[in-house]
Amino acid sequence: MTAGAGIMVMAMRLTSFASSRPLEHSELVDAPIRYPRPQRLSERLHVGGPKATEAASNLGLHTVGDLLEHLPHDRREARAVAQLTPGESATVVVEVRAIASRPVRRRGMRPLVEATVADGSGSVRATFFNQPWLVQKYAPGARIVLHGKLEGRNRFRVQAHAPTSEAAASVDGVAHYPATEGISSTQIHALVREHAGALTDIVDPLPGLLLAAEALPGRAAALAAVHFPELPSDQAGGRSRLAFDELLLVQLALLRRRAKRQESAAAPVLASPRELTARWLGCLLPFALTGDQERALRAIDGDLERPRPMQRLLMGEVGSGKTVVALYALLRAIEHGHQGALMAPTETLAEQHFATIESLLGGEAVPIGLLTGSTPARRRSDLLRKLETGELALLVGTHALIEESVRFARLAVAIVDEQHRFGVRQRAALDAKGGDGVAPHMLHMTATPIPRTLALARHGDLDFTVLRELPTGRQPITTFVCSTESERDRAYERIREELRAGRQAFVVCPLVEESELLQAHAATSEYERLAAGELADFRVTLLHGQLRPREKQTAMTAFASGGCDVLVATSVIEVGIDVPNATVMLVEDADRYGISQLHQLRGRIGRGEHASLCLLFGPKGSPRLRALADHSDGFELAEIDLELRREGELIGTRQHGLQQFSVAELPRDASLLERARSLAERIASDDASLVAPEHALLADALGASQGLQAEAPIPA
Ligand code: ADP
Ligand code: MG
Repeated sequence: MTAGAGIMVMAMRLTSFASSRPLEHSELVDAPIRYPRPQRLSERLHVGGPKATEAASNLGLHTVGDLLEHLPHDRREARAVAQLTPGESATVVVEVRAIASRPVRRRGMRPLVEATVADGSGSVRATFFNQPWLVQKYAPGARIVLHGKLEGRNRFRVQAHAPTSEAAASVDGVAHYPATEGISSTQIHALVREHAGALTDIVDPLPGLLLAAEALPGRAAALAAVHFPELPSDQAGGRSRLAFDELLLVQLALLRRRAKRQESAAAPVLASPRELTARWLGCLLPFALTGDQERALRAIDGDLERPRPMQRLLMGEVGSGKTVVALYALLRAIEHGHQGALMAPTETLAEQHFATIESLLGGEAVPIGLLTGSTPARRRSDLLRKLETGELALLVGTHALIEESVRFARLAVAIVDEQHRFGVRQRAALDAKGGDGVAPHMLHMTATPIPRTLALARHGDLDFTVLRELPTGRQPITTFVCSTESERDRAYERIREELRAGRQAFVVCPLVEESELLQAHAATSEYERLAAGELADFRVTLLHGQLRPREKQTAMTAFASGGCDVLVATSVIEVGIDVPNATVMLVEDADRYGISQLHQLRGRIGRGEHASLCLLFGPKGSPRLRALADHSDGFELAEIDLELRREGELIGTRQHGLQQFSVAELPRDASLLERARSLAERIASDDASLVAPEHALLADALGASQGLQAEAPIPA
């Protein structure tokens, strides 16, 4: 998934406060104190001839300051080829097996060299652009270090490379730098040496007292240790300090953004709960709340009674009952004469929320509407009119909710379900529906639990509430990994048993990353195969993303009402489908899915009174499938996921916009992040605008890093 999906990857660099680039307008600092830039750092970098100078500037090295902030590769990051995940940037140490240049067919096409490279774990096709001479330089048998990105399944796009003879030197204390054609790592290292004196001009953004209290080295010393380590531990220590700065600035920015949001507009004060919610909780709701749900309600009450907009993230295990919590918040708005809105990422989910809310209301007369892309024009204009007059108290829908023509009379509470599926702009657009100077209380919900460290790094501007506890009476789900043909036969037998007992089943088709259309084809043929074969005696229905909204709805309704036995589907069923009678899920090629996705999928079963069964087809050796078979707690799975893949490789990176730090790395730097967070909180509470003299340099650093972020704002 790209930034276009509204999820962004923030590349934060700290280089700017050592560079000569003028500080961009910073929303963070009202009147920053400007210190004169140290002369030596802002000097233009001179490198040999014009070609090398151009190469250096391609690397972003314009000034001496840029050079000193250009860090050598962290050799700890070298990875096994077989472990690479598509989209991930990584360093590998490999041997060249074959290498050839691809002929340039058209003018303007860049010359391309392709090599088959391998390490002990596997091989990939590495591609190098614009460097035809590499065919001679890296003959088969050469050992090289490559830094780049895996694209598709097997194509490694090289961004930097060096023979191991050069790179291996880093083991002896010589750093290996990201380099490019025209300037080598060795040349960069020599330049850094030449300009090492300027390190003393590096400004430390942290006040000395604080450094002492946190037992951190100075920033200049940290950079020196990374460039010229005497021991490998010097490098690590230096990097920690640089990582700390990086994490601290992100946390300060998040806290600052949170404060700004709270200052910019007032939210309607919804003081204590009134009759409606009391009646609903007391008599209408057909079950008792779980302890976690109770706690979530209290936290929300605490938020709603203040004039500052609620900014809360509700992270709830699949099936933990987030909808009830959401509905409570919405009713709290309605009982005070305001309106509520709930936005979901798909029509299917919006429709389901609408139906669930109607039934959860238990006959309570709350005027509620459903607005999606397929709402007929007449109905739509009727809804919009009633929304504007205030007659309609509650609107449930998709992205259709944030269109310009949708105007609320008095929106007070807005809920975003599956918040990570929306972009920053979309969430902001809903936030803006409160009208001039009014900010609705916002509750973001996600069923994708993430470890606390990631939550902090990503959502540090929100308050968190976690629903861990599942409603009582939930039946356990037994999960098996199935690999052999006889296991497959047995699996269908088990499905038939469940179906004969009156239960229902999901069959989930393989994920096809490249195209939804291909995935739809795969689902269609699996549907045909099963309907004519193993499950011929049962009513089988097909659901995939390429169907028309009407067809999807028909399929879902049939399944939800028990009008069909088996739903053969793509991962469109991943979110929010609630069919308590479904007790089996079979997932084909399960190893193509990530841990959290499988956990989400599995959450579609085990919702009723019967024990459930999840059958994951895939290799027995897959650690991810193993994890699913052994654990049912989403938070534990999230931790395992994080350990199995390190930060950059998390499928979640693409799904959730995990920040990519340039020095810091999670989860390795989790404890640094905690320290940075608590320091940021302290600074934010003592001196929110960073006007104290001792924070002036920190304000500068923050301003500079915000300038860089302006192109890609932090996700809300
Ligand atoms: P999710 O957190 O995955 O969105 P839902 O809100 O869809 O979960 O709830 C899952 C199911 O559990 C629904 O059928 C809901 O009515 C039911 N449920 C929610 N809270 C409770 C509870 N406290 N006790 C029993 N059932 C509950
Ligand atoms: Mg839900």
